[in-house]
Amino acid sequence: MADLSELVDRMHPFATSVFGAMSARATERGAVNLGQGFPDTDGPAELKEIAAAAIADGSGNQYPPAHGTPDLRAAIAEHQARFYGLEVDPATDVVVTTGASEALAATVLALTSVGDEVIVFEPFFDLYPAIVAMAGATPVYVPLRAPAPGSGDGFSLDINALRNAITQRTRMIIVNSPHNPTGMVLSALELREIADLAIVNDLIVLSDEAYEHLTFDDVAHIPIATLSGMFERTVTVGSGGKCFSFTGWKIGWASGPTDLITAVRVVRQHLSYVSGGPFQPAIAAGLRLPDSYFVELAGGLASKRDLLSTGLREIGFEVLPTQGTYFITTDIRPLGATDGIEFCRDLVDRVGVAAIPNAELAADRDQLMPYVRWTFCKQPAVLNAALDRLTALRTIT
Ligand SMILES: *Cc1c(COP(=O)(O)O)cnc(C)c1O
Repeated sequence: MADLSELVDRMHPFATSVFGAMSARATERGAVNLGQGFPDTDGPAELKEIAAAAIADGSGNQYPPAHGTPDLRAAIAEHQARFYGLEVDPATDVVVTTGASEALAATVLALTSVGDEVIVFEPFFDLYPAIVAMAGATPVYVPLRAPAPGSGDGFSLDINALRNAITQRTRMIIVNSPHNPTGMVLSALELREIADLAIVNDLIVLSDEAYEHLTFDDVAHIPIATLSGMFERTVTVGSGGKCFSFTGWKIGWASGPTDLITAVRVVRQHLSYVSGGPFQPAIAAGLRLPDSYFVELAGGLASKRDLLSTGLREIGFEVLPTQGTYFITTDIRPLGATDGIEFCRDLVDRVGVAAIPNAELAADRDQLMPYVRWTFCKQPAVLNAALDRLTALRTIT
């Protein structure tokens, strides 16, 4: 481990990222990497051309306006209206950020402080606890309910656990649906239950909708801001990287009521100030693509999900239902294993496939020990290569 003696105490738990560590190990061992979730094929060629032209003609090469170009903010507002019927004013209710990541960080930094509690469901996207720590606030972890083995169910919301976690100090709930890492999508009923608790307790909801367009089998993504009583207390976050398969461009956004977005804008302008000049016009064009683009994006991923889940099931894993995102969660117990952390370490070394143990994405690791996350946003040849290697597990166990 590197020398951390100069690092502030509150950031010590976040010194390493499981994704970075697993990718490094995968590279070192020549493993097929189904750990980190990024697509290995580019998004629409016409968006690349727009970004390239904005560099060539000089229009994208200097600081764009604070809060994002007017055209991109307008495109984000149009997108929220077109898909969800949400009305936001691009002049005041939208901010463009350096990926969804910065939108999440700026929102937590702008709206929470020392003494505030922020509710984080686990397993979680690893950024959440780190940004709560940066704000000096306190994360309160609420486990999602694991399915009974063999039931065919996925993870689900435990509304009583959420209710019991709320105190006088609770300020915010971070909601993520479609959910990384479990692949679950919160139902209208689950969202209503969260919303009712947020309203009764006067809480802010930070809704991470990075995978909003990646739901499968006619499962609908419902932004929690569309529920009655919720718009005024919700910051909704989106990711151009996830919507258009350009995760390296790092264009994201937040939208919501003017008072909350004004606060987020103040903090964000002192983080990256502005970002992604040449990419902003390209993402604006992406958000205006016809419905067919979004349908094909989800359809293409659904067939990759099917390829990987069928293969993993044949090898002997219990494959939990995946309603959205880039990820499948499996239960490793049918293979005779119980410790996902050890399982993933062995897998990369002995079988040559990298995956992520869900237990690494939780404060309370025990409940999540038997679960392992695999990404399927890879070319079929890569998924098949991983499955070929994994057949070795049949003989090992
Ligand atoms: C990828 C991801 C993000 C970050 O998105 P960027 O636009 O790359 O910053 C945020 N939340 C979740 C759940 C993600 O998986």
